[in-house]
Amino acid sequence: MKQSLKADREAIRLAVRALCKDFPDAYWREGDKTEQYPQAFVQALTASGYLAALIPEEYGGAGLGVAEASIILEEINRSGGNSGACHAQMYTMGTLLRHGNEQQKRRYLPALARGELRLQAFAVTEPNAGSETTRIETRAVRKGDRYVVNGQKIFISRVRQSDLMLLLARTTPYEELEDKTSGLSVFLVDLRDVKGNLKVQPLEMMINHHTNVVFFDNVYIPAENLIGQEGRGFRYIIDSWNAERILIAAEAIGDARWFIHRAAAYARDRVLFGKPIGANQGVQFPIARASAHTEAADLMRFDAAEKFDGNEKCGPEANMAKLLASDAAWEAANVCLDTHGGYGFARDYDVERKFRETRLFTVAPVHNNLILAYLGHNVLGMPKSY
Ligand SMILES: Cc1cc2nc3c(=O)[nH]c(=O)nc-3n(C[C@H](O)[C@H](O)[C@H](O)COP(=O)(O)OP(=O)(O)OC[C@H]3O[C@@H](n4cnc5c(N)ncnc54)[C@H](O)[C@@H]3O)c2cc1C
Repeated sequence: MKQSLKADREAIRLAVRALCKDFPDAYWREGDKTEQYPQAFVQALTASGYLAALIPEEYGGAGLGVAEASIILEEINRSGGNSGACHAQMYTMGTLLRHGNEQQKRRYLPALARGELRLQAFAVTEPNAGSETTRIETRAVRKGDRYVVNGQKIFISRVRQSDLMLLLARTTPYEELEDKTSGLSVFLVDLRDVKGNLKVQPLEMMINHHTNVVFFDNVYIPAENLIGQEGRGFRYIIDSWNAERILIAAEAIGDARWFIHRAAAYARDRVLFGKPIGANQGVQFPIARASAHTEAADLMRFDAAEKFDGNEKCGPEANMAKLLASDAAWEAANVCLDTHGGYGFARDYDVERKFRETRLFTVAPVHNNLILAYLGHNVLGMPKSY
């Protein structure tokens, strides 16, 4: 890697780390307890320009790559925070950048870059179609210059904290399709216009994630807000999956490093039987092992990110990075909890909060089983399970 690129990345890392210092453990702990959206943090991140990392410079953004964006999310989680409050703007950006038309980009990207608009909601999952995205039922029917949307989505995060929402909806009935991956379309929904017919019902979740059931009852979307071509939406969403997997891997690595740092510090300080508990190999080795697994996952994450930013194919690497990083984070979470003994369960130590938060990465936005299925089928040539 070029020295200048290395220095640029280190500068981003240090700047985000400095910003996160203003939002210590107590800030996130209190937000978790009261289920508040971390408004002040998201505002600070927006003002600093980091949330616009992936928006090209011509639209007012920083024009950075996924590798740099991933460092931003990693550092938030590594500081003890939770980038789940704002990561969707980076997850969804690829769909808008690659498939949105010039008019859509000019209308939304500069305002997103300035922080006047938020694109923090992404509506794909439905009660009858979880991992099987091609079976979604929410219908968008074209009527003149508008689409009328009816249906239901579940687990849709940050709808109430967002101005815009990327929506995947069915434009052709499943039964009429020859290719089951067609017939779905992506829309950019301006939530400020549709509130009346859009019912948002918050879900009580294990983590502070602002997740909802969303009901569409004759929601009108201007046809000009269709992204790309009608019927090709599933392809567009797939296109953005590699970036999403790399970004999740980075968030998980941030968590893993937080857990390892906390575990090692506690193991050095806590004295029992006349010596620090970390002198016992039963305590020390699991921390060292989790650290090794985290660093290995990190290499895969940067391998994937560099291929992605260099426009090379990176499906296997992005999927492996997500799998390895989420597993490493979960391993580190358990090790950290064990190291803390009973104190790991006490809210004041933040381990239990991060433990709950990091558990998500093996399940959402895609379960690791589906990652394994991708690797088994696409990389290793074994038969499909679906
Ligand atoms: C906190 C949170 C926030 C979320 N935010 C969003 C959001 O903003 N937008 C959004 O669209 N979605 C969101 N989701 C939904 C998330 O993407 C889904 O939960 C996830 O894709 C899994 O779908 P599911 O929950 O329906 O599980 P299912 O698809 O029902 O899977 C259940 C289990 O079956 C396994 N399984 C299914 N098929 C196979 C197979 N062929 N082989 C092996 N195993 C299989 C799965 O791996 C899993 O273990 C969120 C979820 C959570 C928990």
